[in-house]
Amino acid sequence: MTGYHPRCLVASLLACAVLVSPAVAQQQSPTTFHQLGHAILRELIETNTTASSGNTTTAAQQLVSRFEDAGFPAADLQNIGPTPKNRNFVVRYRGSGAHKPVLLLAHLDVVEANRADWTYDPFQLTEQGGYFYGRGTQDVKGGAATLITTLLRLKAEKWVPDRDVILALTAGEEGGMPYNGVEWLIKNKRDLIDAEYVINVDAGGGEMDNGKHTMLDVQAAEKVFHSVSLTATNPGGHSSLPRKDNAIYSLAAALDRLAKFDFPVKPNAVVKAYFTKAAAVSSPAVAADMRAVANGTANAATFARLSKTPLYNAQLRTTCVATMLQGGHAENALPQTAKATVNCRMLPGEDPKAVEQTLIRVINDTAVHLAPTDTAVPSPASPLSPAIFSAVEASAKAIWGPIPIVPTMETGATDGLYLRNAGVPVYGFSGIFIPINDVRAHGKDERILISSFDDALDFTYDLLRRLTR
Ligand SMILES: [Zn+2]
Repeated sequence: MTGYHPRCLVASLLACAVLVSPAVAQQQSPTTFHQLGHAILRELIETNTTASSGNTTTAAQQLVSRFEDAGFPAADLQNIGPTPKNRNFVVRYRGSGAHKPVLLLAHLDVVEANRADWTYDPFQLTEQGGYFYGRGTQDVKGGAATLITTLLRLKAEKWVPDRDVILALTAGEEGGMPYNGVEWLIKNKRDLIDAEYVINVDAGGGEMDNGKHTMLDVQAAEKVFHSVSLTATNPGGHSSLPRKDNAIYSLAAALDRLAKFDFPVKPNAVVKAYFTKAAAVSSPAVAADMRAVANGTANAATFARLSKTPLYNAQLRTTCVATMLQGGHAENALPQTAKATVNCRMLPGEDPKAVEQTLIRVINDTAVHLAPTDTAVPSPASPLSPAIFSAVEASAKAIWGPIPIVPTMETGATDGLYLRNAGVPVYGFSGIFIPINDVRAHGKDERILISSFDDALDFTYDLLRRLTR
């Protein structure tokens, strides 16, 4: 699209909005906004925001210009951060102030992509066979584009929300940049992003199966990452004169005891709500077990059956698993050191020190030394707010019909953890539905269905109006 300038689209939309009567201004054509959404997605994809050869500051500056053109005051627009290359974009859409603001969150940076690995240029938006291809279409420039487009549409329609709507598009989520944008904003510019709650489009989301919209996951909790090392030491010696004490044997025995151990089950409110919804789409026997967990009648046998599925096991309890191993220094020497890395994913609210004490008790060998290798960042579960969940349900129904809205606890960690840790509830979902066997985030030929992107624009618009009226 040579010579094409996406900002002109916004300008003509605004010109349109002033020329027509207020009643007509309420009825802007969705197709016009789909086109604006496509232009915004194109600009985001074609602005390289990788940590190596790109930067987020250029993308943030383009957004400042775009929002200025749309009539946002310069004082409400920020291109901000501690380093010149990795700034964050923050815009405040002023509302009536009846309630505390809502914060909309996505990250601007993307994972590296090699042109040689891809069928198409990862930093061009390619339209092919009903898909948009490009690095970040799934993770998470597609979601960011739905938020940007919705704010511009609401502004063009002169919508006055009942609270400020803040949009923060941040740097450094994918790693490789010197800092995490959300963490930096909380530490240095908390007033810019302080909110009653957060919608993070980089978690949860819609699932499609065989072309059908099956469910919309809303991430309301996430497990907490915490690693420890286990180290066995020994004086060593010549391997021709072995003794019964041996660093590798000590460590191996400790790991064997760990392998046979399960942390106690502790289903929280989010997990119970998840099993309630998941029961509706599971086989009768599994559904019965899920309902028993949800209503508090599950026994040891129930939990044992469900725990055979890794995903359900991870929902029910804290897990700690050996992930790396090293030991010995020569083929012909008794080992002086053997070391394992154990990675824990703790349930929200779990105390890392208590988890370490449990591991020490299970290992049951004072010759094996446990040491934390990081500082766990707590991430308390967000309350299942009926107001928010019913709005999501109503908007989803308006676009896709009655589909289940499923609260989830993510077993990995997201940017939501910094905000949850700061006391702000976070709900992770976007309106972009992805076929369950077409998850390409971080992979090659990353893509989204154009129809799913357009639906997400309509969903986000509908939802934001419901949440701010
Ligand atoms: Zn992401």
